[in-house]
Amino acid sequence: LIAVTEVKKRFGSNEVLKGINLDVAPGEVIAIIGKSGSGKSTLLRCINGLESIDGGSILVAGAQLLPDETHLKALRLKVGMIFQQFNLFPHLTAGRNVMLSQTVVKKVPKAEAEAMARRQLERVGLGHKFDAYPDELSGGQQQRVAIARALAMQPIALLCDEITSALDPELVAEVLAVVRELAAEGMTLMMVTHEMKFAREVASRVVFMHEGRVHEIGPPEELFGNPKTPELQRFLGHGQ
Ligand code: ATP
Ligand code: MG
Repeated sequence: LIAVTEVKKRFGSNEVLKGINLDVAPGEVIAIIGKSGSGKSTLLRCINGLESIDGGSILVAGAQLLPDETHLKALRLKVGMIFQQFNLFPHLTAGRNVMLSQTVVKKVPKAEAEAMARRQLERVGLGHKFDAYPDELSGGQQQRVAIARALAMQPIALLCDEITSALDPELVAEVLAVVRELAAEGMTLMMVTHEMKFAREVASRVVFMHEGRVHEIGPPEELFGNPKTPELQRFLGHGQ
């Protein structure tokens, strides 16, 4: 579904991605782990077309990502992304927030967008919060609205970048429960996460990034249970 081949990305003289290769099959849940600065966010942003790439190729659903604006726009429609910060519009209700990109970007008729928004809010357990404003919602609820907003665009895959990192500990579980549900429904997911226990339970494969490379990749039991490289062992706090 997503094919990343020899992808390179640099910011000035800083080569952040040094030839990434990664194929993601439909329905796979990929957990991405690694130290700060290893390139995790940059990789997701490249796949979503938020950053252009300097080498290699990214194919999403068979279509090559070309660095022209219309193409990147089309890609961003196909691949949803959720961030640490929820980025909801504070002056719009939860429902309006979920409707907005449908009506503005996809030109979906209002009634249809509203029905979709209600459906997706329902899906994340917030059917009753359609008319609530972001400041009337907890952080966990706001993040679930952000997930509903991404789902309303009917993405073929969802990229999640540390979506629980800004949440109070007691709110993390409700957001992870939604992600777990999406995974069970067969949604293709790529998630950067510090929630190792969650990654272990839900991921089909774990990617350990180190200095701009996929340093180790495999099923969670293998990576967590039997890390091969000293870098991953150190990252997981083994063998020091
Ligand atoms: P973290 O765990 O802290 O989120 P990360 O693995 O997501 O880290 P990235 O955000 O991908 O790391 O950053 C990788 C490197 O690229 C870092 O050295 C960072 O400073 C640099 N970088 C990222 N975005 C930009 C940018 N827009 N301009 C310049 N440098 C950038
Ligand atoms: Mg990051």
